[in-house]
Amino acid sequence: MSTTRPATLTDDLLERLVARVPGTTGATWKLTEVYTGDVLVELPQSTPDDIERAFHEARAAQRLWAEWPVAKRLEVFSRAHTLLVDNALTTADLIQAESGKNRRMAVEETCDPPMVISHYLRRAEKLLRPTRRGGPVPFLSSSTEVRVPKGVVGIIAPWNFPFATGLSDAIPALMAGNAVVVKPDNKTALSPLYGVALLEEAGLPRGLFQVVCGEGPDVGPTLIDNADYVMFTGSTATGRVIGERAGRNLIGCCLELGGKNPMIVLDDVDVDEWVDGAIFGVFGNTGQICMHIERIYLPEARYDELRDAFVERARSLRIGASYDFGPELGSLVSPDHRDRVAAHVEDAVAKGATVLTGGRARPDLGPAFFEPTVLEGVTGDMLAGRTETFGPVVGLHRYRSVDEAVRLANDTDYGLNASVWSSDLARAEAVAARLESGNVNINDALATAYASKGTPSGGVKSSGVGARHGDQGLLKYTDVKNVAVLKKQVLGARPGQDYDAYVKQMLGSLKLMKRLRVR
Ligand code: NAD
Repeated sequence: MSTTRPATLTDDLLERLVARVPGTTGATWKLTEVYTGDVLVELPQSTPDDIERAFHEARAAQRLWAEWPVAKRLEVFSRAHTLLVDNALTTADLIQAESGKNRRMAVEETCDPPMVISHYLRRAEKLLRPTRRGGPVPFLSSSTEVRVPKGVVGIIAPWNFPFATGLSDAIPALMAGNAVVVKPDNKTALSPLYGVALLEEAGLPRGLFQVVCGEGPDVGPTLIDNADYVMFTGSTATGRVIGERAGRNLIGCCLELGGKNPMIVLDDVDVDEWVDGAIFGVFGNTGQICMHIERIYLPEARYDELRDAFVERARSLRIGASYDFGPELGSLVSPDHRDRVAAHVEDAVAKGATVLTGGRARPDLGPAFFEPTVLEGVTGDMLAGRTETFGPVVGLHRYRSVDEAVRLANDTDYGLNASVWSSDLARAEAVAARLESGNVNINDALATAYASKGTPSGGVKSSGVGARHGDQGLLKYTDVKNVAVLKKQVLGARPGQDYDAYVKQMLGSLKLMKRLRVR
């Protein structure tokens, strides 16, 4: 295993990246390598004045950018796709250093922005093209839907997928003619800064995509007050704060929030297929994926067999600090987060849950490691039973009927992701239809829905408002202008026409229009 910091992460690169962040007071935040706790670089902290200046520059750049034909804007992203793929391994080095995740997850994360680019390269021109429709008077009127960029989009991103959430949500916003000001988490600002540099290398005008840094409550208010739209990814608690402020400012927002995601395993499942998928669904990214699985419902008749297979695989997972593909599980993002995960496990055990495997921090591996942990007997009065743990911890539960499994799966305030496993797709789809969740993955835990960039993906209930991906993932960054044309003044009574006769004629034409299906 290679714990030596990759040669790509030179001081020169790190200094060049953080130099992009405005910070006039000289205040900095110590950005650390998670595996060791060593300081990597001092990250400038942006003041409200710095943030306002960033918006000012972004707004100036946006006015010119919006005048570029869409096809010309897309050429930038076509070149960016190549650069992002060609530099994926350096990006993965940065992601690993700042987040502590394992190599596989870091590399997979680098694939997200290119996938989003590919999708919208195919779709953006059609979506942004004006659409003309007939108006209220057949032949004599028309109405055209024109898509206008919002202006400057503020993006607030979390630490768990810093490169993907920092860049992928910005891509459709920029394609639609907006500027973007992104605020990454302080812990994980390097990979989004690197992504912005690559976009500029591909030809994105300087100033159009700004990065500001600071603690959320310090930066958030100024960012939201200056933005024309806010895209937020993070916890439900912070999402409420963002949504309230956006609401007061009468700007739109998209909130992608937390989950307490269930997996229902039907009694005809193939255990070998399921166990690998479930292990990834629970422990991928060390359990720090918004869509990851924290509750598994197993059929009574096969409970022991499925539990034993799952626990055996969980126990055998290789965990460690390494920049190569050795470890199957990396670190948690910080010692603070490790303490939160440990508190959930301790609370569950104190209230009667059983640890089947794991359950301990691993300071011998690094400051923020925690073992893959499987619990039994988790109940609704435990932290791990109700609130999002966001770590490598899962509760196994038995169910006696599918109705009971569906009821238990839906018994949560969240509604981000759910997973159903069965050898019979029709059975699985029937269960999926009953789940209250913005995403349902059948015979997979989470990746299939997230990687389907053509379909909107978001949360319901306390897991969010709005969605990313799909047509609405781009159109949400536009205002609609309805340009209506009436070729001749025919609406209203003709001069001298009796109003009763006019009303009769108008009501008659309503019926005719319905028969003719005139819209
Ligand atoms: P968080 O809400 O603490 O922070 C997210 C971002 O918001 C960070 O950049 C943070 O600095 C900023 N922030 C915090 N307080 C703020 C405030 N008052 N005003 C403005 N910004 C503020 O979340 P986190 O712990 O960084 O991320 C983990 C959470 O994100 C989990 O709940 C996870 O489920 C969720 N998440 C959701 C999705 C999704 O697509 N639904 C994706 C990834 C992560």
